[in-house]
Amino acid sequence: MRRRHLLGAAAAGTALSMAGCAAGPGAPARARVLVVGGGYGGATAAKYVRLLSDRRIDVTLVEPNRSFVSCPVSNLVIAGMKEMADITLGYDALAARHGVRVVHDTVAAVDAARKQATLAGGATIAYDKLVLAPGIDFLWDQVDGLRAAHDEGRVLHAWKAGPETLALRRQLEALPDGGVFAIAIPEAPYRCPPGPYERASVVAAYFRRAKPRSKVLILDGNPDVTSKGPLFKKAWAELYPGMIDYRPQHKLAGVDGRTGTLRFDVQDDVRADILNVLPPMRAGALAVQTGLANANARWCQVHFLNFESTAAKDVHVIGDAIQVAQGMPKSGHMANSHAKVTAAAIVAELSGWEVNPHPMLTNVCMSFVDDRHVIHVASVHEYEKPRQSFFTIGGSGGVSDVRSDLEGRYAEAWARNIWADTLM
Ligand SMILES: Cc1cc2nc3c(=O)[nH]c(=O)nc-3n(C[C@H](O)[C@H](O)[C@H](O)COP(=O)(O)OP(=O)(O)OC[C@H]3O[C@@H](n4cnc5c(N)ncnc54)[C@H](O)[C@@H]3O)c2cc1C
Repeated sequence: MRRRHLLGAAAAGTALSMAGCAAGPGAPARARVLVVGGGYGGATAAKYVRLLSDRRIDVTLVEPNRSFVSCPVSNLVIAGMKEMADITLGYDALAARHGVRVVHDTVAAVDAARKQATLAGGATIAYDKLVLAPGIDFLWDQVDGLRAAHDEGRVLHAWKAGPETLALRRQLEALPDGGVFAIAIPEAPYRCPPGPYERASVVAAYFRRAKPRSKVLILDGNPDVTSKGPLFKKAWAELYPGMIDYRPQHKLAGVDGRTGTLRFDVQDDVRADILNVLPPMRAGALAVQTGLANANARWCQVHFLNFESTAAKDVHVIGDAIQVAQGMPKSGHMANSHAKVTAAAIVAELSGWEVNPHPMLTNVCMSFVDDRHVIHVASVHEYEKPRQSFFTIGGSGGVSDVRSDLEGRYAEAWARNIWADTLM
């Protein structure tokens, strides 16, 4: 895994060593890259365009939030094992260390023909290349009553880390012993395949310690656990006997926040004290409104060599917002990996160099099943020119043999390292 990763890094290193050279013919004298969205994808892209161009290319990052709040590890905040401060980081180093111009605003519109973006504040920013990394938004209308129940604060998703993470924690703290927590999972594809099962596991760990008569209900819109199924099920049976009730094939149709009722397409209604509903997802609103969500009006199709949108030239879409290639999860690690391939391609294109013809991506998703024990799934993906897409390299990854506290320490290190790689 490590050797493969270094191979991928070596490909990026080629661009790095060339970055000191003068730009090639046809390259703008002082190129401008605009990055929209300072999450795992966008922040990494902003930093790596600066690094790989040896600071020759001007980079502006637009992100409304003053702080980066990580979704990875946020389930542990919900379970009372970490604090918000543990998952909150600043954008200062991107500016101070890498010279990224960070603008805290929202991009309201993109004019891809004129190559300019308009901020909610009214200012416009012109670009040579745009990187769009807006993450996900929700298809509220696919579940009756969900938007109203959410707006009233009764039904939370906590699927974008921030105030809802803490609000869901407060709901769990207020739950009497013997209460029921229900998590409803939409049909794939959705952000972070193992994330809902991790959440169910660590909430059960909290119940085992603080509210042993309480129950966790997992109502899954999919036919089975979508990631690391046997490992999660073994952990549930051994760590939380009788506490977690897993029910597949439960496609949510409606929600009544006042009575705490979930209504399904086929199965019987379910009542619970806390309803944690993950709505069906699509690409972030800006991508949709810019006409880039050209896969089922949900996700953005890209040319995988450089992540350029198939709908707009010089607009590169990365992270959760894209229509993924085979076996490619919507994860923070994968968004960070997209960003590096994209940054290298953009620097090459703006410098008149050849784009790396054989990019590679890595991914690992580590899930806590209690406060210490972790299971992982890992993969390495390579670009295949004839099929113009990424494919998983056979035998490159796999899943844990068993849950372990050693992997728990790796997971803590993974988080520290990816935060440093993304933001520092
Ligand atoms: C509970 C949970 C646990 C997870 N655990 C893991 C894990 O262990 N490992 C892992 O790899 N992944 C994990 N993930 C998945 C990971 O969080 C996402 O895959 C990752 O955040 C995707 O990165 P992104 O850059 O596409 O989107 P985001 O990180 O969501 O960033 C998008 C950014 O764009 C900004 N934005 C949106 N619209 C605009 C606009 N118009 N103008 C300006 N800015 C805008 C938003 O404010 C946001 O900051 C987890 C997710 C959840 C919910």
